[in-house]
Amino acid sequence: MKALVYKKPELMALEDYPDPVLASGEVIIKIESSGICGSDMHAYFGHDPRRMPGLVMGHEVSGVIHQSASPLYKPGKKVTVDPLITCGFCSYCRTGRDNLCENRTMIGMNRPGAYAEYMAIPAASVVPIPEDMPHRVAVLTEPAATVVHALSISEARMHRPVQEQQVLVIGGGAIGMLMALLLTSRGVRHVDLAETNALRRVSAAEHLPARIIDPVDTPPAESSYNFVVDAVGRKVTRDMAIQALKPNGVLMHMGLQDWSSEVDMRKITLAELIVLGTYTYSYADIQATVQALHDQVFGDLGWVEYQPLADGPGAFAMLARHKIRAAKIVLQP
Ligand SMILES: [Zn+2]
Ligand SMILES: [Zn+2]
Repeated sequence: MKALVYKKPELMALEDYPDPVLASGEVIIKIESSGICGSDMHAYFGHDPRRMPGLVMGHEVSGVIHQSASPLYKPGKKVTVDPLITCGFCSYCRTGRDNLCENRTMIGMNRPGAYAEYMAIPAASVVPIPEDMPHRVAVLTEPAATVVHALSISEARMHRPVQEQQVLVIGGGAIGMLMALLLTSRGVRHVDLAETNALRRVSAAEHLPARIIDPVDTPPAESSYNFVVDAVGRKVTRDMAIQALKPNGVLMHMGLQDWSSEVDMRKITLAELIVLGTYTYSYADIQATVQALHDQVFGDLGWVEYQPLADGPGAFAMLARHKIRAAKIVLQP
């Protein structure tokens, strides 16, 4: 089969790659769509020790069961996946926090991923989708589940309902867009989205019922938001988030570009800020997200761009140079 292989930092190539072999308890999916994730971009620059050259990346999937060694799925069924392969028996798995499974692995990281014509995965990680759900929509399940999970963690810590909050989303990439869309569709009236890339601001303004700001020209006002989502995760955005939060406000830290930096611990302490981390999604979050996407909670997704898998090397290069307005590129074999 053809697959997009990560050759070395800043080089992807479409190559012949061994077909996946059907193993006990697994299925082989014929990939119809696979999205390029920010974490794959991170690896593309050589910044991810977990994703090494030779790997087929890709963990945002929509496809059809091609072969099955599981009684759960027959060939022809439309599916997406939970890219995390979890053990099912550790204390996290047994308490619905399977995203934190102590024995987890992941497709596109520990085993070949979805930038290919076919991919093998345990049947337990497969998530069925409605037959009338287009692959171009279902492929957004994984990134959308990330924001569904992050928002549910955040809401649990808010003093008042999220609908009453002044919200700032930092970053107009796919995660920032999906978070802003989820918030507005849930009835949050005051959502500001901060994005430094002018091309992305134009796209966001077309597709998002939110106020779009350039934080360089118009820095968010100090202590004016109850809830800030950092969908970038650099020192500059963390500092922006903390200064923008009202006392007892909630910071949801989702992006992870800089792994560490000094932050204003004085404000965090004295203003009783609530700083939250998040990692992926549970299987239940993914199921809820399939339903939400099917119900068009995330709008028409007109800001997503679709390209042939064969154009994958060019798509990565364009994303790397920020020469693109699409916040998400989906590859189609
Ligand atoms: Zn991802
Ligand atoms: Zn586990």
